[in-house]
Amino acid sequence: MKAVFLDRDGVINEDRADYVKNVAELKIFSYVPDAVRRLNDAGFKVYVVSNQQGVAKGLIREENLMDIQAEIAGQVEAAGGNISKFYYCRHMASEKCSCRKPEPGLLLSAACEHGIGLDESYMIGDTQRDIIAGKTAGCKTILVLSGLLTPQEIERFECKPDFTATNLSKAVDYIINSAR
Ligand SMILES: [Mg+2]
Ligand SMILES: [Zn+2]
Repeated sequence: MKAVFLDRDGVINEDRADYVKNVAELKIFSYVPDAVRRLNDAGFKVYVVSNQQGVAKGLIREENLMDIQAEIAGQVEAAGGNISKFYYCRHMASEKCSCRKPEPGLLLSAACEHGIGLDESYMIGDTQRDIIAGKTAGCKTILVLSGLLTPQEIERFECKPDFTATNLSKAVDYIINSAR
């Protein structure tokens, strides 16, 4: 079983510095539903792995997190695609848990639960944390430029991705072409 792990904010939807706190603040990029369907068609299970410390801070209510999840899942399903499961770290950075990216815990949990071969899987994210988590888990990594980081910040990454793409749709093009 091979999988593609997607970060959420900055990959699936527009990120915002004060957290995406409810569906009203959720802006899903238009290409996302079709991109997920194309991954499914190419034989990949798709999982979302997302840090949401806004929950621990009391800024994001659990029901709103679930509403956001349902909206993303629904749009993907309407396009004929499927996200198998959403995994969240709801801890504060200061808690030093094993699931908050750059730790690989969310990916390892998914791999363990679903029998995923991490070496044939990909992590797609918009920050250094995502790339480190993917590499630590043993996945190939793709950085997308649809988040909030500046080119100067990306230039300073110590842990380089295997590939950099404009956005999720282009990352999926790369994965599908690599599989041929
Ligand atoms: Mg992100
Ligand atoms: Zn955590």
